[in-house]
Parts: sequence; structure tokens; C-alpha cells
Amino acid sequence: MAELAVVSLSGGMDSCVTAAMAKAEGYELALLHADYGQRTQAREKQAFRDIADFYEVRASRRLIIGFDTLKAIGGSALTDSSIALPEGDPERAGVPVSYVPFRNAHLLATCVSWAEVLGATAIFVGFVEEDSSGYPDCREVFLRSFEQTANLGTRPETKLAFHAPLIHLRKSEIVKKGQELGAPLHLSWSCYQSEAEACGHCDSCHLRLRGFLEAGLPDPIPYAHIPPGLAPR
Ligand SMILES: [Zn+2]
Repeated sequence: MAELAVVSLSGGMDSCVTAAMAKAEGYELALLHADYGQRTQAREKQAFRDIADFYEVRASRRLIIGFDTLKAIGGSALTDSSIALPEGDPERAGVPVSYVPFRNAHLLATCVSWAEVLGATAIFVGFVEEDSSGYPDCREVFLRSFEQTANLGTRPETKLAFHAPLIHLRKSEIVKKGQELGAPLHLSWSCYQSEAEACGHCDSCHLRLRGFLEAGLPDPIPYAHIPPGLAPR
């Protein structure tokens, strides 16, 4: 019987490709999605459902968790509408205001709890460290530390391997990897700002558009606006 992996699936491009990679490695998928009051929550949830349908994941292996704690705490442009979302800017230094304070610890802890109940042996996350917005809780050093924490805090027979197969890839390599594995990128949603068409302005849209441009492939999702330097040639 195939081993089971819990995949954290936001519905964005990175998590979509991560699910494809877990599948390609022979795992059965259990998909977890987090609602934490982010602006595009409804659209992301739709992307989660569409990708889960694409991989024919059964209902008992889909979990949507509401993180009211993160919503209540706020402190991020993603969860607090009074904080403006910044325009994408690859040159900006420091941790951007779209960082949701320690979100990935909540997410990983929830993946671990569910994995232990399901008897899963692996956790897959779409963290990207190199070509990213620079969130401290997306770094490999944090992931490895949390992996150790998880294995110390669960039953002795629970053995969880944490996988972040994209962590050292550039966005263009992620696009190519997704294409190669037949990942349903047309169903994924990355925009932080809008739900009908991707805005084309936010950090996440910039990173995604640049990834497709550098990979030489068209991005299959609709955009309200594509900055001139990021338009397909
Ligand atoms: Zn956007």
C-alpha cells in the first residue's frame, strides 16, 4: 500500500506543484488547506477544491481548517485590510508586511496533528526560500527545526519526514517542474489581492509572472493587468 503524505495546499502555484511532486514520488495525498482570514480566502478555497478534484482525493482526505487565532491577531497586510498590500518589488529588503506572523508554525503543527491521526509518514509543504518574499518561516532551517519538534512531540511510533521540494528552486524552475509533472497550474491561484482576475501588482503576482516569463511558458490564469516588464514576449 502506498504511504500517505499530508500536503499543505494553499491553492497557489507552489503548493500545487508540491502536491504533484508528492504524487510523483508515489504517495497518496491528504490535502490540508488553511483559512486565516486572508483577503482572497474564497478564491484560494476554490483552487484547493479544484486541485483536490483534479487528483481525485477523497473527502476524508481533505481538510479545511479555520485559523481564527491568526485572524484575531492580525498584524499582516493579508489579514488586516487597514494595512495596504505593497506592490511587488524584488529589490525590497527585510520582511514584507504581507508576512503573517508565525503562520507556518500553526500550519505545520496542524499538518502534524492530522498526519499522526491518519498514520501518514510524510508532510509536504511548498516553501520557497531563494526566490521568495523573504518570510522567515519559509526557511529550511526553520522547517528542519520544526521537523525535529514534531517528532519529539508525537507518539514514538509516529515518524514524520518533512519535505519542501521547492525550497531551493527559482520560480521559473517551479513552473517547469509543474509543467513536466502535469500539475494543474490553470487551477491554482496566487494573487494576494483579487479573486476574479489576478491583480498583477502584488508580490505574489510579480513572482509568479516572472517565473512563467523566465520559463518561457504562458500563465494560464486571467490577469487584470500585467506589468510591461512581466508580459509574455
Ligand atoms: Zn496579485
